[in-house]
Amino acid sequence: MVDFIRGRPFKKINNLIYQEGKEIKFNPIKNLNLNHLPRQDFSFLDIEEYFRLQNERQISPSGRIAVFSRKGCGLRSRYGPCFFCSIMYREKRLKSPLKFFRELDFLIQKYKPGSVWDVSDDFLDDKDWFLKFHRLYRRYPTKPELRVYVCLNELDGVTIKRLAELNVKWIIFGIEGGDDKISSSSIKNCSTKEIKAIFRCLNEYGINACIQIVLGGIGESPATLKSMIKLTCDLKERYPTTLFLVHFLRLLPGTLAHRLLIQKTGSKYQNRDFFDPYEAFLDWLKYFTTVSYSQVLKAFQKIPALKRN
Ligand code: SF4
Repeated sequence: MVDFIRGRPFKKINNLIYQEGKEIKFNPIKNLNLNHLPRQDFSFLDIEEYFRLQNERQISPSGRIAVFSRKGCGLRSRYGPCFFCSIMYREKRLKSPLKFFRELDFLIQKYKPGSVWDVSDDFLDDKDWFLKFHRLYRRYPTKPELRVYVCLNELDGVTIKRLAELNVKWIIFGIEGGDDKISSSSIKNCSTKEIKAIFRCLNEYGINACIQIVLGGIGESPATLKSMIKLTCDLKERYPTTLFLVHFLRLLPGTLAHRLLIQKTGSKYQNRDFFDPYEAFLDWLKYFTTVSYSQVLKAFQKIPALKRN
């Protein structure tokens, strides 16, 4: 946008896709080095009003700011995407642990938030990065509550203890199925037994979990839906602070699921950004699962979700 305002011709602006006549042009992708970015800046925001509104809307009682330590997802870079994933950052990029630490230090000193949310995907996707950041931040005197996204299969007792030392109070992660068959076919590959063990450990260190659930994934069956309901009810009973965000699979263009659907349905969804998502989901269920829409809907209603969308 800045290049455009400066009058640079379209063909010289990196990362731009544009139409020239009847042709769609793709310019080279050149991502920014995050270490060269200026420090995150909230100075254009009335931070007191921002915190007051968060409090009023019960988002955060003591003010929360969002930061980012990276762009992209380590899992995606390593194994390819989850079948429903449409994030646009294909390549993982990190701020150095020192840069991220200094940014945090600056923001904490300046705004004194009660909570900081690293909105990047997967805080633990680079072990070396995490250990360096842990060393820098562990003894920081006034650590606000931290919330981060993680992937289940990166959690073990030692890592959870380290997260607690950083004052992580909430972790957010996804599970594809309450059933081992579905879970093991996903890149997160975590059995229900392992999920329960992780929860015991999180509980020990006072870390709460928010779980994102996608219903209607590849291989979903009446049995897998039943397992998901059981798993979530068990977890909620044992760990009542746990939150569940439940989604129906969305066949978004750019996802692997969308590509698979096109393979089955031919031209019906090909080259179309706009289509009936309900119809696409019904087609998906027909080709890739053994459940009906009403079975998915019933499961959706039985999972003890705080929020649904
Ligand atoms: S859904 Fe999350 S974990 Fe899966 S590839 Fe996308 S960003 Fe990574």
